[in-house]
Amino acid sequence: MELWDLTVHELSRLLATGEVSAVEVTQAALERAQQVEPAVRAFVTSTADQAVVEANTVDAARARGEQVGPLAGIPMALKDNICTRGVRTTCCSRLLEKFAPSYDATVVRRLQEAGAILMGKTNMDEFAMGSSTENSAFFPTHNPWDLERVPGGSSGGSAAAVAAGEAVFSLGSDTGGSIRQPAAFCSVVGLKPSYGRVSRFGVTAFASSLDQVGPFTKDVTDCALVLNAIAGKDELDPTSVVDTPPDYRQFLGKDIKGLRIGLPREYFAEGIDDEVKEVIMKAVGVLEGLGAVVEETSLPHTEYAPSVYYILAPAEASSNMGRLDGVRYGRRVEAPDVDTLYNRTRSQGFGAEVRRRLMIGTYALSAGNYEVFYQKAQQVRTLIVRDFEQAFTQYDVLLTPTSPTTPFKIGEKIDDPLQMYLSDICTIPVNLAGIPGLSLPCGFSQGLPVGMQLLAKPFAESTLLQVAYAFEQNTDYHKQRPQVTVGGESNA
Ligand code: GLN
Repeated sequence: MELWDLTVHELSRLLATGEVSAVEVTQAALERAQQVEPAVRAFVTSTADQAVVEANTVDAARARGEQVGPLAGIPMALKDNICTRGVRTTCCSRLLEKFAPSYDATVVRRLQEAGAILMGKTNMDEFAMGSSTENSAFFPTHNPWDLERVPGGSSGGSAAAVAAGEAVFSLGSDTGGSIRQPAAFCSVVGLKPSYGRVSRFGVTAFASSLDQVGPFTKDVTDCALVLNAIAGKDELDPTSVVDTPPDYRQFLGKDIKGLRIGLPREYFAEGIDDEVKEVIMKAVGVLEGLGAVVEETSLPHTEYAPSVYYILAPAEASSNMGRLDGVRYGRRVEAPDVDTLYNRTRSQGFGAEVRRRLMIGTYALSAGNYEVFYQKAQQVRTLIVRDFEQAFTQYDVLLTPTSPTTPFKIGEKIDDPLQMYLSDICTIPVNLAGIPGLSLPCGFSQGLPVGMQLLAKPFAESTLLQVAYAFEQNTDYHKQRPQVTVGGESNA
C-alpha cells in the first residue's frame, strides 16, 4: 500500500517507530496530489514548499528525542474559509481573492501544535453557500469516484482531497450540511460537532448560530484523533463551551448491544431516492446484528427545516457579511462616491448565489418583515429543537441518510437553486438544533457512494463515534478507494 493511502493512525505508528519520516509522508502526499490534481482540482492554494520545511522540523524534533504532537508529520488540508496566517484565505470569492490573514484560526493553531502539516487550502462554494462546490468563483472540484460528478459542498475540496489521497485528513465547516453531505458524496467520514464544541475563531462567519468546524477522515479512529486535537474551550470564541472534552478514543470499541437507535420516518419519505434508502436499510441491518435495538420514530417538524434555514442562514449572513464592503477587506472597485463603491464592489466581487442570499437575508430582517420572517423562523426552530429533545429521551442515536441522492452530475442542478437547496434536507435540521452529526460511508449504489448520518444529543459525539466504529469494524466500505482516472490512465 502507498503512504498516501494510509490513515492518520497507521501513519502515526510508522512515524513513531521511525519506519518512515515526515518528509517521506509529505512527499508521498505531494506526489499523489501532482498526479491526480489536474483531474480532481481539490485545492485552490498549495503550500507544498512550506509543508516540506515543516516536515523537516518534525523529523528533526523526533531525531533529537523530543516529544512530538499526536498528529506530528500528518499531511492535512483546510477549507479556504479557515484563516491561515500569511496564506491566502479566499472563501473562493473574487472579493477575497488576495486576502492573506494576519492570524491563524484557533483550529489551525491547535492542529499545528499537534504537529500536522498543511498541504494547502481547499476549494469550496463561495462563502460556504452551496452543496456542490460549483459556486466557487475559481473552478469546480470533481468527485474522485466519478469525475463528471460533484464532490458535494460546500466543503467539496476538503472531502475530495481526502478521498483522493492528497491529504490524510482535512477540515471543513458545516452550516447546513457542508461537512456531512460532501463526506457522503466522497465516501469519507465527516463530523459536524455540537454547536460550541469546536472554536469558530478565525473561521469566516456564514451563519453564526449554525456554523461549526469539523474533520474529514478516512475512518472513524482518525475522526476521533482529529476531534481530540481541535475540540475544547477557546477564550477567543465566547460560544465555545467550557467543559473539557473527553479523549474520544476511549469510545472506540465499546459494544453497542442494547443501544437504542431511532429511524425518523420523515427522513425516509418522499424526496429520498429508493436506492439510497435500500443501502441505508442494509446498514441498519448490520447494526441490528450487533445488538442495537432499532425502531421507527418521528420528528414531526422536519418538513419546515429548509424554510426556516433559508430565512435564518441568509439573515445571519447578511449581517456577518456587511463588513465585506470594499473598504475594510479584500477587493475594492473604485467609484466616485461611497454608495457606488459598495455597490460595484459587491456586485463584481460576489457571485450570483451569494448575492441571492444577501438579498433574501436583508429582506427578512427589514422593518415590517422581521416579525413575519425572522421571528417566525426562530419560533419554528424551537419546535425543531424540541422534536430532537423528545426523540433523545427514547433513543441514544438517530439514523438517517446523509443526502437524499448519490452525487449528481456537474451542471445538473446549478441553474435550479431550489433543487440544490434540497440536497440538504437531511442535514439542515441538525444545525438548527445544534446537535452533533456524523456521516459514515455505508455502501454504494451503482458505483456511487452512500453515506449514513448518525445523530445524538448535544455533546454526545462519543456515542456517534462508538456506533460508527462498531459499524466500521464489521464492514469494509471505509477501505474502498476511488480509481482516479487522469488523462485516460487510472491511478488507483
Ligand atoms: N448547502 C447549504 C447552503 O448552501 C449548507 C451550506 C453549509 O453548510 N455551509 O446553505
